Amino acid sequence: MNHGKLFGLIAHPVEHSLSPLMHNEAYKALMLPHHYQAFNVVPDQLEAAIQAMKTLEIGGLNVSIPHKERVCTYVDEVDAEAAIIGAVNTIVRTPEGRLQGFNTDGEGYVRSLLAETKVDLSKANILLLGAGGAAKAIGVYLLKMGANQLTISNRTQARAAQLQAQLQAYKRVAEVRTATLESLEENLSAYTLIIHTTPAGMWPNVEETPISLKGIRSGAIVSDIVYNPLRTAFLQEAERRGAIVHEGLGMFIYQGALAFERFTGVEAPVQVMKQTVWDHLQLGGNK
Ligand code: NAP
Repeated sequence: MNHGKLFGLIAHPVEHSLSPLMHNEAYKALMLPHHYQAFNVVPDQLEAAIQAMKTLEIGGLNVSIPHKERVCTYVDEVDAEAAIIGAVNTIVRTPEGRLQGFNTDGEGYVRSLLAETKVDLSKANILLLGAGGAAKAIGVYLLKMGANQLTISNRTQARAAQLQAQLQAYKRVAEVRTATLESLEENLSAYTLIIHTTPAGMWPNVEETPISLKGIRSGAIVSDIVYNPLRTAFLQEAERRGAIVHEGLGMFIYQGALAFERFTGVEAPVQVMKQTVWDHLQLGGNK
């Protein structure tokens, strides 16, 4: 008997997503009889799409731009971290038909960071560049997974201040601060982990970097969540200045791996997922 389930992604647009390729290759590797499908859902059909998930007994859905925030109101429950982040990127349908919302972006990022750099979050002095949705998800999980010192720096200072207040309220014992981008030059050496979360440097603006890394301390870790290109100009500069670099593709892989595990109840074949996406991007599929 075939116990295969249907999983998928809702987004708009959805054509260029690598999630179907990554999930379907993972099912194949573990000989699971599931299928993962991308669905192009326009904003005014979001509620209908979530209703269809129940009706059609779709086992789980990933949610991407522009639906991550609004979808919170259409699921039956949202877990604590996703509620603080205010965005859901993974919906699981329980056997009873209830829809549970999670956010695997921030945890996926931190898992990738820990796997690739072995950083001790509890001792790290972290600079978070950007204060958008990705920064918020990452900030929440950095604090949840042990970080104690976090400084947020963003083009729009008011947005940095708002995120600072939210993260400080989430973990009162941590030191969460803001710094203007202009002030960073003078004390960049204070930071042991620098995380870039804005689109600066993303194709086609591949020469763009968010800040200069002049004055960075030796042995610092520099991380960029942009993964198109895989090695951004920011990471190239970091490497030239002797930093340890962490690429953005890991965040995408691990958010997918965590969703895979919530969907199937089976440990994700992370290496297969990574290799599949990496091969695809190396073959020029990233433009
Ligand atoms: P968002 O909510 O729109 O936030 C964008 C952030 O970037 C804001 O802090 C914004 O600053 C800043 N920003 C935008 N353009 C800028 C520029 N030219 N110079 C300086 N700052 C700029 O977007 P998001 O969802 O957080 O996504 C941000 C980036 O992360 C995107 O490139 C996305 O592709 C990437 N991402 C990667 C992954 C992954 O799996 N690796 C996952 C999610 C997102 P203001 O507040 O001043 O506007």
